Amino acid sequence: MKTITNINNKETMHIGNYQRVLRIISGGPISRVGLSRLTGLTQPAIGNLTGQMLADGIIEEAGKLQEDTGAGRRPVLLSLTPSWGYIGCISIDRDEICAGICDLGGSIVLSPCYFPYPDDVEQTLDLLCDTLKDMIRTHLPANSRIIGVGVIAPGPLNSSTGMMINPPSFDRWNGLNLLDEMRKRLPWPVFTEHNSTAIARAELRLVSSEKYRNFAIYFINAGIGLGLVLNGEIYTGIDGIGCEIGHTSIDVNGRLCSCGNRGCLDLYASTAAVVHDARRVDGSLDSWRKIVDRAIDSCDRFCDELLKLQASYLAGSMINLDNLLTLDAIIIAGQATYRGEYLCDKIRRRISRSLAGSGRVPDIRLSSISGHTSLSGAGAVVLSQFFYNELFLSCGLTI
Ligand SMILES: [Zn+2]
Repeated sequence: MKTITNINNKETMHIGNYQRVLRIISGGPISRVGLSRLTGLTQPAIGNLTGQMLADGIIEEAGKLQEDTGAGRRPVLLSLTPSWGYIGCISIDRDEICAGICDLGGSIVLSPCYFPYPDDVEQTLDLLCDTLKDMIRTHLPANSRIIGVGVIAPGPLNSSTGMMINPPSFDRWNGLNLLDEMRKRLPWPVFTEHNSTAIARAELRLVSSEKYRNFAIYFINAGIGLGLVLNGEIYTGIDGIGCEIGHTSIDVNGRLCSCGNRGCLDLYASTAAVVHDARRVDGSLDSWRKIVDRAIDSCDRFCDELLKLQASYLAGSMINLDNLLTLDAIIIAGQATYRGEYLCDKIRRRISRSLAGSGRVPDIRLSSISGHTSLSGAGAVVLSQFFYNELFLSCGLTI
């Protein structure tokens, strides 16, 4: 296999240019002139590169530019061929495991397949991998190219080694090397990542890079994860372990957490925490969605107060984070996006009051990911390896 270290300088430059131009095309249809303008490469150089990409089938012609450029001819647009390759997506979380497939454009092409959680970790891994192989065999055209498989899980997870490091409330998975286990079971390149970081990768592909160069994603489910994009780049922390905002304290004398800390955000503002608090008063409130529905549809005061309290805890955490990092936006993903504007609005109001004096308030908004958030995140892990790293060299392109 080619690697960047065993090829010469000229080849390295050519590969770098191929990958860079492909990345730009993957962002949406663009003409050769537009590519030349954006990259600074000459039009003949762009002609050579895009000719090679067309021969490889990884891009295709996508009609002509609508407006006339004045040169007499309307330039032909080039776009990515999404079906050139597919990615296996696996998400392991505390309350759900699922598998799916996305294409080179990052779109989920098959409805995600959910499973009941087996008791045994080995059984869970077998089930996920067997299902993924079956989905690929059954639903994709014969001889489809599988670029790789992205596997995401709650942290702490060392994304480099794949080792799960004592994830709170997820004891069975402690000490498991997710990467080794998946590689034993799957014939394709496998990459692992902390789920919130992966979801930040998926979001980064969708949001305007000029508008949001610095943003945080709060992935709010039974636990609360944090993905960070700083100066337009994903922040992964040491060894890709990522960030654990759910285990930062909002009350030093508060509830004792399984991580050993007191007053962790997870214990107050995760969907599981709100359901837990609701059920202590009303046993019928056994799901997050029920609480939101009742607050909105029935104007239930108790449910509304629960959400208001959750919003104030989240806002407190977000204000701390914004004071540390100065962010363009804080984006909410996960279960909390269900009818999410309701919660979002409460957070917005609380944050505006607190930060108004600073003259700058980050946008508080819901995630732009329209498909299954976790699977999109798992897909984005592999797309990032393909468009930015060496995975690109082993996928059969003529470079
Ligand atoms: Zn904790």
